[in-house]
Amino acid sequence: MSKWFTWVWALLFVALISAAPAYANTTLRVIASFSVMEELVKRVAGDTVSVNVIVPRGEDVHRWELTPPNVLALEETHIVFYNGLGLEPWIRHVEAMSDDQLTLVEVAKKADYTPLTISTGQYKGEPDPHMWMDPEGAAAYIDVIAETLAEHLPEQADAFYARADEARRALNNLNQAVKERLEGIPQTNRTLLTSEAGFGYFARAYAFDAQGVWGVNHETQGSAQAMAKISEQLAEKRPPALFFESTTPSIHMDALSREASLPLAGPLYVDSLSGEDGPAANYADMLRHNAEVMHTALGGATAE
Ligand SMILES: [Zn+2]
Repeated sequence: MSKWFTWVWALLFVALISAAPAYANTTLRVIASFSVMEELVKRVAGDTVSVNVIVPRGEDVHRWELTPPNVLALEETHIVFYNGLGLEPWIRHVEAMSDDQLTLVEVAKKADYTPLTISTGQYKGEPDPHMWMDPEGAAAYIDVIAETLAEHLPEQADAFYARADEARRALNNLNQAVKERLEGIPQTNRTLLTSEAGFGYFARAYAFDAQGVWGVNHETQGSAQAMAKISEQLAEKRPPALFFESTTPSIHMDALSREASLPLAGPLYVDSLSGEDGPAANYADMLRHNAEVMHTALGGATAE
């Protein structure tokens, strides 16, 4: 009796493991490098594509290091959508482990959207990776994602492009809503001083002046020289407030705020969405939340 059971289980086990690859072949598995990319990919992918993420919400995408679960997930993946332009220095480890099965897509580099350069710090003059901070940049990402998915699953191309159209329309509406919310902030108050200079594209889109203590989060942060330079500027021209970001320690902005006696506002969300219950649970909420924080801190007019 027990022998019979053993054989049944052995046969069942063989049946299960040989069925696994057949199932695996019918599902396209993709990984996005960070939470904003994950959302944009999901908007286009729909339910038939499995979408995972490497850097969890709330963590710094610039300074991430691959974990064993990341590596396991990557081994099962067909496409990696990463921002590129230097946002994820750790992507070189993914490149090192990639083979013919894995397609790496550097979305920001392929996007039809005019790049800006990093304004300060060690990487000054190199392309600024934070393109998603302008909804038009995010829309350009959507196009790259749709084209890539359509190449991999041509039979679903129409569905991918239809979802991409819908996503682009939503981004366009969001752009208008953010523009309207920021309208009340007087031009002279439109200064965004943050730890990382991550608001360049946002500033270009909405007519702000943006500056950071350093250029990108993966460089040495807040040298004495950089702090002194900002202090001097603050003595000359005082903005209504300074800002801190959700994934960057606020110690430098705290110090500047105390020194210059300027209020500190935030957090602004840039390199990560918030948790599901937070104020920036998705991309649209992230931009709306940022606009709201800016509106309050920079003296936006209140509707009568
Ligand atoms: Zn950043």
